[in-house]
Amino acid sequence: VLLGKTALITGSTSGIGLGIARALADAGANIVLNGFGDVLAARQHVEQAGGKVRYHGADLRYPEQISELINYANHEFGGVDILVNNAGIQHLANIEDFSIERWNSILALNLSAGFHTSRLVVPAMRQQNWGRIINIVSVHGLVASASKSAYVAAKHGMIGLTKSVALELAQTGVTCNAICPGWVLTPLVEQQIEAKAKQQGISHIEAQAQLLLEKQPSGVFVTPEQIGALLLFLCSDAAQEVRGAAWNIDGGWIAQ
Ligand code: NAD
Repeated sequence: VLLGKTALITGSTSGIGLGIARALADAGANIVLNGFGDVLAARQHVEQAGGKVRYHGADLRYPEQISELINYANHEFGGVDILVNNAGIQHLANIEDFSIERWNSILALNLSAGFHTSRLVVPAMRQQNWGRIINIVSVHGLVASASKSAYVAAKHGMIGLTKSVALELAQTGVTCNAICPGWVLTPLVEQQIEAKAKQQGISHIEAQAQLLLEKQPSGVFVTPEQIGALLLFLCSDAAQEVRGAAWNIDGGWIAQ
């Protein structure tokens, strides 16, 4: 269904972004991957779907590198039809102990990067009167948790950005929406489970169960594949009038 379309997924070498890249590749899109770590494995995983895959290693905390990433996608595939702003990092500390450097990095990556990628792809999307901007936000774009001030602030900001962009494009074929996952078992969350286990002197498996129990009524993790499937729906014609939504997929987290 997405044959001939090009999707750029930021932070797609791992976790949710990788699952989304695979889902989009399965649907026939050309893929531009981005992120750090085991790039080769990520690339192979997405290439198994059979489509064209490219990679650019831009560090999205820096606007110049974001421009290079978009130029690269334009050069390789002639444009970006589907932009998925997914790259994100987490850091836990109470506000009085929160390092300024961490605050700046989280705001730069989890919020400002989405501003830069969006402003750079919107002109061509407007021109062709079709496009999808999908921001992978979090339930933390809608509700807060303690010790995550930078993350929660950036994610709330991202929901605001999503709504504004959606309104600016409301009379075009370009839609902008947010997906708000609850806990997904990725390296970003493994880190938090590990920290919890250490802090409370409990096993990894106990820490994992506790983490789920505190916030996610289902008691099970959301999967990258489920997020990929929701994202494919938002890319479809059926979702043409879904605009500015913040769609939670969270095992009941924000229903409480
Ligand atoms: P992850 O750590 O598995 O993946 C993060 C990706 O971002 C990786 O590909 C990494 O290389 C890339 N990245 C990190 N810093 C970067 C930078 N400076 N420039 C470019 N790329 C960079 O994490 P994940 O859990 O898959 O998270 C993906 C997104 O989903 C994040 O925005 C996160 O906030 C959000 N999210 C995650 C969960 C969860 O439970 N895991 C829940 C809700 C929302």
